[in-house]
Amino acid sequence: MGSMRTVGSVLFLLLARSVAAGQQPQVDAKAYLVSLTIPDTGQVIQGKTSVVLRVAGADTVRLNLLDMQVDSVWRGNGFDAFILVPFHYDGRVLSVATGGRHVVELTIQYHGTPKDGLIIGPNLHGRRVAFGDNWPERARYWIPTLDHPSDKALVTFAVQVPRSWRLVANGMAHLPDRWDETHPIPTYTMVIGAGEFTVSKHRPVINGRDTIPISVWTYPEDSAFADSVPFRRATEIVETMQRLIGPFPYEKLAHVQSSTKFGGMENSSAIFYAEKPYVERKMREGVVRHETAHQWFGDAVTERDWPDVWLSEGFATYFDGVIAAALDGDSVLVNRMRSNAEDYFKSDVTDRPIVDSANAADPITLLNANSYPKGAWVLHTLRGLMGDSAFFRGLRSYYTTYRDSTATSADFEHVMEKVASADFGWFFHQWLYQPGYPQLDVTWQYDAGARRVVVGITQRQKPEWGLFRLPALTLEFRGADGATLRRDVAVASDRETVAYFNVPFAPAEVRVDPDSKLLLKVTAIGRR
Ligand SMILES: [Zn+2]
Repeated sequence: MGSMRTVGSVLFLLLARSVAAGQQPQVDAKAYLVSLTIPDTGQVIQGKTSVVLRVAGADTVRLNLLDMQVDSVWRGNGFDAFILVPFHYDGRVLSVATGGRHVVELTIQYHGTPKDGLIIGPNLHGRRVAFGDNWPERARYWIPTLDHPSDKALVTFAVQVPRSWRLVANGMAHLPDRWDETHPIPTYTMVIGAGEFTVSKHRPVINGRDTIPISVWTYPEDSAFADSVPFRRATEIVETMQRLIGPFPYEKLAHVQSSTKFGGMENSSAIFYAEKPYVERKMREGVVRHETAHQWFGDAVTERDWPDVWLSEGFATYFDGVIAAALDGDSVLVNRMRSNAEDYFKSDVTDRPIVDSANAADPITLLNANSYPKGAWVLHTLRGLMGDSAFFRGLRSYYTTYRDSTATSADFEHVMEKVASADFGWFFHQWLYQPGYPQLDVTWQYDAGARRVVVGITQRQKPEWGLFRLPALTLEFRGADGATLRRDVAVASDRETVAYFNVPFAPAEVRVDPDSKLLLKVTAIGRR
């Protein structure tokens, strides 16, 4: 597979041996300039990528690049003339000496057929198109990168495409074939889309003194449907997120029909959506809300490493529901959280924790019911614990603090703890690092003389899941005549909790968590 072009240097061969993933802590990519030619026919691309790197103590830069032919590597420091330098390339990693510099600019000329990452071929209408599709570590199939979410960078795309095509990419177009993203973004969202598009402009979003253009790029056949159904409220969705969280993080937002293999892919400021649901007229707004929310969470604030991917997917899943509730009423979120719970309960990952380092070798395996619906539940539960005002204040602080940077679950926890002046160690431990969820047996008995109900709650989940602390589990006592009374019980992280409530009537029924505020299952309920 691939080609090998080796410079006969013992030093480079030794260095190349220890190469593994895209993380190279002593090397920090600051900016990429990616020049590409997409051919009229065939799949062979010509590429020239310049990358500016800050180097702290490393004598070699190792870039991820899969199965390309590397033609030449030039090194400069931004001012000097570039010089042709030796390199080692094994078809996976390109190693180049830094020359002892702290700021290194490399220009790599290469060509080849991308095996993945940049998909060139016919769309569902039979017309040729080209789309980047990088998540999680597929940028390296067509761009030499430090291909890991911890290393965000600026990117400029200068792309020659066939006549009659239009080009879209991250950032703003200063020329039709050149797009600049002036915020650091993860390599997994650095993309181009090219083909014959109809572009419609939606009402822009006003952001202080800035105007954020919002556009919808579709294959001409699907344009009217896209504008009137899934993207009808594209502007309102952004406005809702701005009101709840903070300013839209980028220069523009383009919603692009594409050949991504995902239902939607949250590429920074240029979201790509699977083409088929447009063609079948089945696409709805939910995916637009989800991917738009990612612009704040995932793109602007990026998980530093894959085991924390819930910081991206859990947030986008939750804000899909939160935006819908803001636009259409609170019951939408309640229903959405119920279906999130059902999706999680019936999944095959309930024995794994959300932050699942053991499964991080292949990030695709983390696109599961832990990262998405259970991740959304972590936020919903935290909101219940903190109250709306503190919860959204915390999220705004988290966004402001980590925008254009990366964060871990611990970073998020610390921001929320600071805002609440509380220790949430137990909360994040049980929901992120413990598997499973509480399964409760609830028994009750009424003492008519004392006008008192005694309630016993037993945690029945398997021992490997551990015990859960639920500071406010709501119980609803319902009398035969329709009288109701609600009380919260604090369930400790013990197997058994017993609580007493003064109730002025004899309950005929007791309901547990009547508003579905918690992720739990009641396995049995009855009189003791
Ligand atoms: Zn997502």
